[in-house]
Amino acid sequence: MTAMPPTDALSAVPRSIAFLSKSIAMDFLLPAYQAQFPGSRLLLGAELQALLDAGQHSDIEVAVCWHPPAAQLAQLTRDAGLQLVQSIAAGIDHIDTQALPASTPVCRIVDSTMGYGMTAFVSWAVIHRQRHMDRYVAHAAQRQWREEPIVAPSQHRVGIAGLGTLGQGCAKALLAMGYQVRGWSRSAKQGLPAGLEGLQSFHGQAQKAEFLSGCDTLVCLLPLTDETQGFLDLALMRQLPRGAHLVNVGRGAHLVEADLLTALAEGQIGAATLDTFSTEPLPADHPFWQDPRILVTPHIATRTDPRVIARQTAHNFRRIRAGQAAEVAVDLGRGY
Ligand code: NDP
Repeated sequence: MTAMPPTDALSAVPRSIAFLSKSIAMDFLLPAYQAQFPGSRLLLGAELQALLDAGQHSDIEVAVCWHPPAAQLAQLTRDAGLQLVQSIAAGIDHIDTQALPASTPVCRIVDSTMGYGMTAFVSWAVIHRQRHMDRYVAHAAQRQWREEPIVAPSQHRVGIAGLGTLGQGCAKALLAMGYQVRGWSRSAKQGLPAGLEGLQSFHGQAQKAEFLSGCDTLVCLLPLTDETQGFLDLALMRQLPRGAHLVNVGRGAHLVEADLLTALAEGQIGAATLDTFSTEPLPADHPFWQDPRILVTPHIATRTDPRVIARQTAHNFRRIRAGQAAEVAVDLGRGY
């Protein structure tokens, strides 16, 4: 039986929580954190910066982050009080973890509502192209009653690169709709959960080419790490079946953007559905906007409810206070 943490650890709340981001306003999180941590001081923006400037930040015990300014995070970690770095996303690639001491846990969000959102988005992306919904939208604009070829899902092979929390959820849904689904991960998958019985599983560099050769649609759901940066390059695209559909819902830096344009020009890639980009927002003059074979969505594949982020922060903090490992702490050596 797992030892129960002491009662005071179960009710522990951080004295202060800092919200760090250089790219978005974090105040949308405040109501959820106020409700979850009524006794904590919540700090962001100018008030936070003033405390940092005055060196009065020793009671900040949690940093809630989305693209946190490196200088602020470094200052918080230098001065002993910080116990938890909480990403508000499934990934932690937006945090410069080099600056963090190994003893400070970095946690990501693992959340079923985020999973459902991603499953819905990926299922839509696959169906949209595989059932030619893009063409029906164009026909409808012309009031044309026109049938496109129908290929059964069982004849379409979807490959998911990244068979983690989100990838497995997408795989289950696609299998349930009758698609042939294969997945690729870093380590071998044994004993996959119920619902994934029909999945063909591949792992590691040795099985990558075989995996890619059977992907009519390739979905990238990898975390962004040193190993996966630039994963979607021309060499990879040339290993896919000709005319394949590429779906990138991982991170923009997984894709070598110029290589996609080359592969489209060659006809090697038939279409792309892209939700993440190296530069976000995607600049108005970017060539991706102009190619009808590329469907751009503005990094909306899924979202997490702020209440879930606040709840997971509380859970992580209490475990850390009780001397236990945080449940969704990232392995910084692995990068995800
Ligand atoms: P997980 O950590 O649960 O899963 C990651 C998967 O990728 C694992 O299967 C892992 O393999 C595999 N992987 C990691 N590195 C490699 C590698 N070098 N080679 C092969 N496989 C590798 O992550 P999640 O499923 O929770 O999230 C995945 C990513 O989705 C996030 O990191 C984020 O970038 C993106 N995302 C995008 C969103 C959007 O709105 N567009 C929203 C949410 C997330 P193994 O199983 O062996 O460990």
